[in-house]
Amino acid sequence: MILGSTGSIGRAALEVVEGLGPGARIVGLTARDNGQLLAEQVRRTGAPLAAIADERGYDALRRACPGTRVMAGPEGLVELVRSADADFVLAAIVGAAGLAATLAAVERGLAVGVANKESLVVAGAILMPLARQRGATIIPVDSEHSAVFQCLSAGRLSEVRKIYLTASGGPFRTWSAAQMAEVTPADALRHPTWSMGPKITIDSATMMNKALEVIEARHLFGLAAEQIDVLVHPQSIVHSMVEYCDGSIIAQMGTPDMKTPIQYAMTYPQRGAAGGAALDWKAVRALEFEPPDPERFPALRLGYEAARLGGSSGAVLNAANERAVDLFRERRIGFLDIARLSERVLSRHRCIAEPTLEQLLESDRWARMEVDACC
Ligand code: NAD
Ligand code: MG
Repeated sequence: MILGSTGSIGRAALEVVEGLGPGARIVGLTARDNGQLLAEQVRRTGAPLAAIADERGYDALRRACPGTRVMAGPEGLVELVRSADADFVLAAIVGAAGLAATLAAVERGLAVGVANKESLVVAGAILMPLARQRGATIIPVDSEHSAVFQCLSAGRLSEVRKIYLTASGGPFRTWSAAQMAEVTPADALRHPTWSMGPKITIDSATMMNKALEVIEARHLFGLAAEQIDVLVHPQSIVHSMVEYCDGSIIAQMGTPDMKTPIQYAMTYPQRGAAGGAALDWKAVRALEFEPPDPERFPALRLGYEAARLGGSSGAVLNAANERAVDLFRERRIGFLDIARLSERVLSRHRCIAEPTLEQLLESDRWARMEVDACC
């Protein structure tokens, strides 16, 4: 089943499933409010279950998909995850809104491909032990984490010295701080190498995306924040690297096409032939790497701070950023305010070391209100 099937990852995943042939069958699809596209996807795949988070879309979806059981509301999505006859779930909802459905999939002990990094940033400390307890396999879909996951088959986790998460640097890699102060939502939505949904595209422009990915990596691989390095790599060909204790560095490379990590998660531990396009080495002139600039991209530092603090700080940083990105897209705050407000809210938070799920959700609500109060 594909959660968030109308999004950038969801649509790419449906293409991958078509390429995998008759062995792969879709049993459930979900969306927030794009009922028309969801209905088309249901008709094309013959999915027996569908859920729409926005209840206003329920009647129209039911009329458009007569042979399908339709559910609605955030609870409808969780019910779909609990009842679908599935062995693999792709968690591709954007934001903390995806957490409940990801948790439900992990609770069932299924194989879960996690694109929804925010669910790990918010509640990785609950999701990862739960997965072990329920026998769920969590396979990262985020390209960097998929790369690390693949590179980890070259050695043991205990032999890892550090990992390098690569970053394209986004559209403002070479811009001055003064130029960045004037950035509009349209500027921030133009990514140089990856084609993605709007929230992650803006996160890439601030480098908050990499900040969230540091926290995501910490939870997925159980590494210390000091073992996670970020390298700007404008060509987006090396998707990430693992350095072992003997000095060997293993990299995973390919075209910047999310179909490759999506398919890898779906077919794991095998590999399928329906992933992204092959890399044309003749067209590759150089592979460049440079350290990120902490002055122009302060968001990255916040990711390390939250990764070190652990506990409820990931939930707070994520929620503050989600709210600030919404405000920026509504043109109510400037581009640089996204990191500034996130920093302010994180610094005001009294971190809970071992929070319950309810405390994490409460921290998330608090952080969103703080952003509104600060701007
Ligand atoms: P998107 O905005 O294109 O799609 C989001 C999907 O989630 C849509 O189907 C939407 O209907 C659904 N959704 C949004 N809000 C919801 C809510 N409140 N309740 C239920 N469903 C909701 O986003 P995307 O770019 O596909 O990203 C999805 C996730 O994958 C994000 O967590 C992102 O960080 C991660 N990711 C994306 C890419 C990429 O290339 N797009 C790469 C790496 C990781
Ligand atoms: Mg990524």
